[in-house]
Amino acid sequence: MVDALRIIKSRVRELRAYTLTPERGAIKINQNENPWDAPARIKEETARQLSERAWSRYPDFVPASLHEKLARFVGWRPDGVIAGNGSNELIQALLMVTVSEGKRVLISEPTFALYRQIANVLGGDIVSVPLTPTLTYDRDAIREAVEASDPDVIVVCSPNNPTGCIMQDQDLAALLEMSRGLVVVDEAYTEFARHSVVPLLDAYANLVVLRTFSKAMAMAALRVGYLLAAPELTREISKAVLPYNLNAVSQTAAEVAIDMYEAEGRLLVEKIIAERERLFGEMKQIRGLAPVASEANFMVVCSDIEPRRVFAELLRRDILIRDVSSYPMLKDYFRVSVGTPEENDLLIAALREIFA
Ligand code: PMP
Repeated sequence: MVDALRIIKSRVRELRAYTLTPERGAIKINQNENPWDAPARIKEETARQLSERAWSRYPDFVPASLHEKLARFVGWRPDGVIAGNGSNELIQALLMVTVSEGKRVLISEPTFALYRQIANVLGGDIVSVPLTPTLTYDRDAIREAVEASDPDVIVVCSPNNPTGCIMQDQDLAALLEMSRGLVVVDEAYTEFARHSVVPLLDAYANLVVLRTFSKAMAMAALRVGYLLAAPELTREISKAVLPYNLNAVSQTAAEVAIDMYEAEGRLLVEKIIAERERLFGEMKQIRGLAPVASEANFMVVCSDIEPRRVFAELLRRDILIRDVSSYPMLKDYFRVSVGTPEENDLLIAALREIFA
């Protein structure tokens, strides 16, 4: 018998798979999704356009019309845009063209686990800088680590998942100036912070911005993300993106969602921000809970009761949250996404019961 596993890179065999247990709850606040579905008008217009299109024909080799719409939408140039099958695909493509044995990827942890996972698969070395004890970016520690290790890629999720902290523009600019490598700002939750670093793209050739339709745009099921950078960079990153990566359903829906964002989408974001502040205030009142202020559509909460038990107690009440206690620094924390006002009321009532 051939030992087929011998062929798998040892660093891959040593990795734990990045998985999510498929639990179900009527109130699903475990994945930072938009609690409201995409607006009906967006779905209807997408369906109308799709019914007129031949399904027998391939989608665009490169989704150029979407690139143009995205460029206008965010204020950047179309040749500096790549749309992908979720931002996950673009994280992978970006790391594929930058990371190999001996390359260094700096991340501030705890953060979105996919960066560590893919960088590891590709043979890169992770330089991990912990957040501060209050779960914010540690500007000085990051700068020292950049000086000491000269990373090829620096990843900053802003707002960060799962902590919700952001990196200030002046700190990011300082990093962009001192770094010899690329600085990747993952803006998956940027709309909830009402803040973006896209205006810095003009000034910095080593800045890469990642965005998604999965959160504010309420389209996680359709898998659309996009990457913004200088055209010299997007030309190279595109080489690791598969042709026809965006299917026609997703591309059409994304274009319709952009056209209707002002009329339909923005309101949902404002409602979520208002609810985030209310949920934070209510949880703060509960003895045994300490929510962490967040710029995203979720927050982590420090808990006197073991997070695993809080998770189970909430699930008994049909509320599905995320137990993040296995993340670095978050032993005593769970994470909730901001739901609809009704969902948040039920969460607060359930937590009051559990912590009574
Ligand atoms: N970046 C961050 C920081 C995330 O939290 C997520 C999703 N959880 C993603 C990227 C991936 O989003 P998608 O592939 O749905 O665009």
